[in-house]
Amino acid sequence: MSAPARTGRLPSAAAATAYQRQWFADLHRDHVPGAPLALVNADAPQEVFRAMGIPYVVNQWWASIVAAKRRTQDHLARLRERGYPDHTEQYSSTALGSAFDPDPASAPWGGLPMPSIVLAETTGDASRKIFDVWGEQPGVTFYPLESAAADTVPERWWELMPHHWEDAVGSDRLDLMVGELEGLIRFLEQTTGRRFSEQRFAEVLALTNEQEEWNRRTRDLVAAARPCPVAVTDSIPAVMIPQWHRGTTWARDAAHRLHDEVAGRVSAGAAVCDGERARLMWVGRGLWFDLEFYQRFQERYGAVFVWSMYLAIAADGYVRYGDDPLRTLAARFAAFSDQLYTPPWSAEWYVKEARTHGVQGVVHLVSDDARGSWATSRALRAAGIPVLELHADNVDARRSDPDHLDRTVGSWIEAEVLPRADD
Ligand code: SF4
Repeated sequence: MSAPARTGRLPSAAAATAYQRQWFADLHRDHVPGAPLALVNADAPQEVFRAMGIPYVVNQWWASIVAAKRRTQDHLARLRERGYPDHTEQYSSTALGSAFDPDPASAPWGGLPMPSIVLAETTGDASRKIFDVWGEQPGVTFYPLESAAADTVPERWWELMPHHWEDAVGSDRLDLMVGELEGLIRFLEQTTGRRFSEQRFAEVLALTNEQEEWNRRTRDLVAAARPCPVAVTDSIPAVMIPQWHRGTTWARDAAHRLHDEVAGRVSAGAAVCDGERARLMWVGRGLWFDLEFYQRFQERYGAVFVWSMYLAIAADGYVRYGDDPLRTLAARFAAFSDQLYTPPWSAEWYVKEARTHGVQGVVHLVSDDARGSWATSRALRAAGIPVLELHADNVDARRSDPDHLDRTVGSWIEAEVLPRADD
């Protein structure tokens, strides 16, 4: 058999990155200080803003840009100067550092324009406080969403969510979030003068479901493909940039295009790594300050990261069908962080994904604020999968000397992964 063709950069990843840059440049050109602009957390119901035509920037996406441009330390220094902690939830607090920038135009991509509203779910000890500080800035309103929990946990939530979300999430949590979303819509109508249209909102939800269905097909292709046809450093922007634009035809079509490119590579037998020896899973947020990290183990050991949560959660975590649009949207977000971070929801899901992708090892990035990480590592190990926990922050490189990271991951691959893979 001839060697598989080595792949170059995925065109849909390059196209998504170019689109986002242009979108941001247009935002700068068109945004008038004080006009409606939202900063929203990644796990918050952005679809309301989409339907009302209010532009929004995703808090963690902005942090990833700042980290990729190696500017996180400037942002953290501005928090420190004001007496705020710089050592916890840096991924969520980076954008707040932008609010204190005396020279925003010199920041990446011309800087973050000042939002008029910030929206976040109040998970974790620090995040509520980060957003309270946002709410103290002139002209900024913080709209908090409760972080509710349920005492019963569904098994195999990923099978229930598309149609049986009322059972999976629980009616009390949905009632609470529907009430909060109604309040958000009222607040936005009163403060921006824009109208919320049920029909427009239903269109946004339908486009989002289509987009995530494409992601689901793509995820299934990648899970089954040998060798791995797409690098995580390509699939992450190709999935996540459209994710921040979900509810648009551009985003739906970008997900479709990603699928078709991956399908084409699978049928051509294309590989991201000529001599793939082992398949790895990356559990945790992207290591934005060192995206070459993933590539290095592929080059040194033929160990390919075939999985990141970004494509997988797009595939399993977003699709929701139903007749009541606002309740359907609440069902997307009322238990969103449970899917990724709360055991047993999260732990069972990671084990399922590890098995379907046939990985021989998991590198688990554990940040200080990640909730339930221990349960994820324990569940994966109980399923017989080697796990290396890397204790580091995904945007703050201060505790992550690259040599140390490389040595730690490299010796684990040699000791625990390659012997299994070569069996
Ligand atoms: S995904 Fe990474 S590389 Fe792409 S635009 Fe975002 S931060 Fe930059």
